[in-house]
Amino acid sequence: MAPALAGETSKNPQKRKGGINMRMNRRVFIRVVGGVGLTSTVPFRHVLGAEKTALATSGILVEAASFAERGGWKLDTQHYQQMGGCYLLAHGMGKPVANARTTVGILQSGTWRVWVRTRDWCPGEWEAPGRFRVILNGTPLKTVFGTEPGWAWQAGETVTLPAGEVKVELEDLTGFDGRCDAIYFSREAPPNLPNDDLVELAAWKDRLGGRAGKKIEELAFDLVIVGGGIAGCAAALAAKSEGLKVALIQDRPLFGGNCSEEIRVHTLGISGACEEILKTIDTPHYPNGHADAEKAQAKREATMAASGVDRFAQHIAIGLEKDGDAIASVEAREVTTGNIRRFRAPIFIDATGDGWLGYWAGADHRYGREAHTEFGESWEKHGDLWSPKTPDNRVLGTSVLWNSEQTGEPSDFPDVPWAMPVAKGHAATAGEWYWEYSAQDVHQIKDAEHIRDHMLRAIYGSFANAKKDPKNAAVALEWVAYVAGKRESRRLMGDYIYTQADMLERREFPDAVVTEQRFIDLHYQKTMKGAKQDFLAWYIFRHTGGDYYVPFRCLYSRNIANLLMAGRCFSCSHVGLGGPRNMRTLGQMGVATGYAASLCKKHSATPRLVSQKHIKELRGLIGYA
Ligand SMILES: Cc1cc2nc3c(=O)[nH]c(=O)nc-3n(C[C@H](O)[C@H](O)[C@H](O)COP(=O)(O)OP(=O)(O)OC[C@H]3O[C@@H](n4cnc5c(N)ncnc54)[C@H](O)[C@@H]3O)c2cc1C
Repeated sequence: MAPALAGETSKNPQKRKGGINMRMNRRVFIRVVGGVGLTSTVPFRHVLGAEKTALATSGILVEAASFAERGGWKLDTQHYQQMGGCYLLAHGMGKPVANARTTVGILQSGTWRVWVRTRDWCPGEWEAPGRFRVILNGTPLKTVFGTEPGWAWQAGETVTLPAGEVKVELEDLTGFDGRCDAIYFSREAPPNLPNDDLVELAAWKDRLGGRAGKKIEELAFDLVIVGGGIAGCAAALAAKSEGLKVALIQDRPLFGGNCSEEIRVHTLGISGACEEILKTIDTPHYPNGHADAEKAQAKREATMAASGVDRFAQHIAIGLEKDGDAIASVEAREVTTGNIRRFRAPIFIDATGDGWLGYWAGADHRYGREAHTEFGESWEKHGDLWSPKTPDNRVLGTSVLWNSEQTGEPSDFPDVPWAMPVAKGHAATAGEWYWEYSAQDVHQIKDAEHIRDHMLRAIYGSFANAKKDPKNAAVALEWVAYVAGKRESRRLMGDYIYTQADMLERREFPDAVVTEQRFIDLHYQKTMKGAKQDFLAWYIFRHTGGDYYVPFRCLYSRNIANLLMAGRCFSCSHVGLGGPRNMRTLGQMGVATGYAASLCKKHSATPRLVSQKHIKELRGLIGYA
């Protein structure tokens, strides 16, 4: 139960106008896996285990995320909400990676059937690109895994195992992104294993993993921020500097989002009044994809470690608890152990980029391009490339950055027939920002794994084509990201929706908390101009003539009382995102929301009340006074 706020008695909480009101409504628990929400008026953990069908129980589950040694395999957390797992990925850029290893305790000697939750990520008339084997106590199984389409349990053979510790290894056979979510040793044949129903799958994994009955650890903060990109980090630093107890929940091991060394985009835009904070987490201007991102990462990690912010890296937010029109707590699952922690606070900031908190809480939100008539956002010169006549789903796309190097030694690159339907005749040895994928029928969140994989096919196919040119004989892939960089998805609606006119007219809002100068930067897919390849985009810049401003009313939800948002999920139209989407600009939003949270605490106020009554104080904290 949230504590009573100043000026409020527990008898009359509803009477406080604009204040945070957490007591009067029934609580609703929403845990979401795979975009499937399960809503209940009782705490969700009591619902766990209430499975519809009798699922296999007489077996042993080994979750890939819990492997003791990953070898060369990467832990991919990006698609948990869509496929229900954090999986190991053999991302070797065409060279098989070192084995991942762990041990499992087998209680009973005897025969066990082996099942692996995996997928052929690119099915077609070729050998599956991501093939691998499972090795038990040094002996490889005959079955080659990763050869059946769609996330599913692929059957391996029956093996005889002694009681005691058994060594389990994953042996990558290709270097081309084989993936393993879990291994199951079964005594039943054939067992009923959950797969498509992701809520059921999560509950089953929790039960077999010994987590279902465990008490969920509850933690209380003044502010909980989900998403550790530039906006989330900046928000955490600002709130902490005002003495708040802050939790920062980030699904990846590193902070920075798109500018992390995993994705490697450099930060653009101005820092406005927030230079002091932003210079500790931003990057210099290296080419996107450059290894200098590692140095900038070290700076950012040092800043965050020294900040006093309670950091929860490798924690995926998976759902929340609502109380009336407010969020009461957020639940996050620790990636490696699967344990769930519950984070309580009076104020939350959604800095996930994808607007997950808002989405789960029922916040008004948008996805896609508005019709140009809705906010008067047409630009005749560019027509549909800038804004469409009727609304559509062509948002700014997702990129996978990559590069190669001259090694001085001739080298081969494997044949990649599975990549060619995407790459077609395109040849390249590096990919910058314009390697980007968006389409009318592809959703940037729901189809995130498909989009990343489509870009991998584009990259490997284009590189294979380039290698046919003798001048590239000694060129080898140096780095290919496996974490994709997203530009746009859900946008949460605030009391004000930011649009093109705000930038072109350079409107000076009394509640301005962010300043930017960079042009509006929208992209269109080159296919819209007849290109064969669907993974390349280009830009259209529209100059604004100088400074423009974002009002604080764009940084809190219009219908979730205690939700602020910072980053690309702020309240704007598609065109309205085109200016402020630079990372320093979004960092300014982070700073504004972090300070706003401190005023929510100080005045026992909602963000809307801060906007109405304390905006001068907020602007003063940021440095506008
Ligand atoms: C290829 C590319 C080139 C670009 N070029 C530039 C450029 O040159 N300069 C520039 O300034 N901007 C550039 N942009 C735009 C910019 O990167 C984005 O607008 C910006 O990163 C958005 O910041 P954010 O903090 O809102 O989101 P993100 O950077 O996406 O960070 C959000 C973080 O939240 C985490 N998260 C999401 N869901 C959860 C969850 N459920 N639980 C826990 N954590 C979660 C994500 O893993 C991520 O780390 C580019 C973008 C791309 C993709």
